[in-house]
Amino acid sequence: MKIAVQEHETILARVKQEHAFTKTRINGLDYVINPYVGCHSGCRYCYAAYTKACHHATEEWGSFVDVKKDFVQKLERELEKTAPGKVLVSGLTDPYQPIELKEKIVRRCIKLLKDHGCTISILTKSHNVIRDLDLLDETDEVGLSIAFHDDTYTRIFEPNAASIEKRFAAMETVLEKGLKANAMVSPILPLFTNLERLISRLNEVQPSYAYFDTVIARSTWPMFEQTVEEFFPEKKTRVKELLKNSEYKLSLRRMIEQNLSTSIPRKVLF
Ligand code: SF4
Repeated sequence: MKIAVQEHETILARVKQEHAFTKTRINGLDYVINPYVGCHSGCRYCYAAYTKACHHATEEWGSFVDVKKDFVQKLERELEKTAPGKVLVSGLTDPYQPIELKEKIVRRCIKLLKDHGCTISILTKSHNVIRDLDLLDETDEVGLSIAFHDDTYTRIFEPNAASIEKRFAAMETVLEKGLKANAMVSPILPLFTNLERLISRLNEVQPSYAYFDTVIARSTWPMFEQTVEEFFPEKKTRVKELLKNSEYKLSLRRMIEQNLSTSIPRKVLF
């Protein structure tokens, strides 16, 4: 895997982002920070894969991670003129890249944001998030992205992400610390996600909130389709059909309604 250190004005900066701190229209959030470009996890359904177009167009998604230079200093300067709000960490990369363990960029950002009075909403697939729980309080939340109940398909669809066991263990640790841990069940992949068994894991762990979605971004579809074609050619047509099938989606909604413990607040986004 190649790790490149680039100027902050790299992919997103040239296109849209000139700042470390970016306003977002995502419901319930005010800002987002993306200290890295690319993602080691390399998920084959990743909505952020389009970000490779500027500097890594010919490289495989998951094969590069760029560090945004001077990101923490930039954030510190921008915070001086920014009102506190709820901040997503992160939107277009997983904040806990392997290099984060050494660089501690995300950790330093969270500290700055908390000192400024912001509320943090972490979204990750990495158990390494537990390193930073000491910086959080009960106003913050940690979202663990979990689309499968075990690792039968994760090495194909999420090649370098933490195992499902590690993600559930991280979720339990967050909850044990008295913090909010949300389950982001997305995307539910027809013929691959065993939603019933995944819900039963959620019922055991009891996350603070569970979100469910089936969406695969249009820009990501070719990468996802190619992966299914390569590893499960016999399933490709059916997967495509189901993703567009309203009866299938209705059956998923019913399954959530009937099987998810009533003690877990939920939001179904499809
Ligand atoms: S962990 Fe998130 S950002 Fe990284 S590749 Fe997977 S879906 Fe994309």
